[in-house]
Amino acid sequence: MLAKSWASCTIVGVGDTDSKGTLEVIHGSMLGGKTEYMIARLRREESAGKRVLAFKHTIDDRYDADHLVTHRGDRFDAVRVPDAYTILQRCADAEVVAVDEGHFFKAALIPVVNELTRRGVTVLVAGITFDSWGRPFDPMPQLAEMADEEIIRQAPCRVCGEPAPFSQRMTPIATEFMIGGADDYEPRCADHFVPFSEPPEER
Ligand SMILES: [Zn+2]
Repeated sequence: MLAKSWASCTIVGVGDTDSKGTLEVIHGSMLGGKTEYMIARLRREESAGKRVLAFKHTIDDRYDADHLVTHRGDRFDAVRVPDAYTILQRCADAEVVAVDEGHFFKAALIPVVNELTRRGVTVLVAGITFDSWGRPFDPMPQLAEMADEEIIRQAPCRVCGEPAPFSQRMTPIATEFMIGGADDYEPRCADHFVPFSEPPEER
């Protein structure tokens, strides 16, 4: 969807290129297939001959530290970085840059995405729409607003089967970060989502 109006009014000056990059944002509930979608998208770019690089946050050590991994076990090579700025330092000449679990990188991801698209890079960011308390999970809403393409992936609500934008925590929570596997969350629609009972930490 969404050809954003600003994308067509870039001012091209001396030294600029006209190959402004694009931003695709994939967001939804846990278990909605965001990483699955992203891996398929990256494989298409690779088979088209593009230099592709995927990043994940060092805090995300579920399953496998050096790959994007789906809950079903499909995997794609990934570079682990401690913060958003390091993505700029490590992306070299990649033409397609993917960032999984973008919410781990917080607001610092926004200027990094802007810089990459300015350089002409195709950027993909996947992340969770709402946190365990039902709050928009920054910076995903801001990135979705900036996106040239927004892809929403929602698993069926575990109670009623309707599309589920929310992720209900089913086990005790250790940090504000939503780190967990298939057993820790259930996708839930707005009618069946119950915010996590403990008060949220400040972000
Ligand atoms: Zn429901």
